[in-house]
Amino acid sequence: MCKRCGDCCIIHWGSFDATHDDVTRWRNEGRTDILRHLATNSDNSNGRSCLFISNSCPFLRKDEGQNTYYCTINDTKPFHCRNYPDDGVCEHMADLGEESD
Ligand code: SF4
Ligand code: SF4
Repeated sequence: MCKRCGDCCIIHWGSFDATHDDVTRWRNEGRTDILRHLATNSDNSNGRSCLFISNSCPFLRKDEGQNTYYCTINDTKPFHCRNYPDDGVCEHMADLGEESD
């Protein structure tokens, strides 16, 4: 079960980008607050059309007075975030040697 430690958002940010479907959905939803954090990938040699330009996720927030985090765009977060952990074991569980549940 997710403990909302934020580790996955902090550790993996920068290793993935928005998919074409993510960008299309955000355009359809008028989510300029998300789109403004993306830039066109002029290189595109890695097949990514858009890149996040911030060094850390701008949508991650810490709960006041606690060591837990939440995603401010949870309802429309990127595919890679929705799909995480794709092997069933997240960073927190890997650190603690826990089993996925
Ligand atoms: S690392 Fe695991 S427990 Fe922590 S927020 Fe991510 S999914 Fe949840
Ligand atoms: S968009 Fe949400 S789920 Fe994805 S890295 Fe940022 S805070 Fe985490």
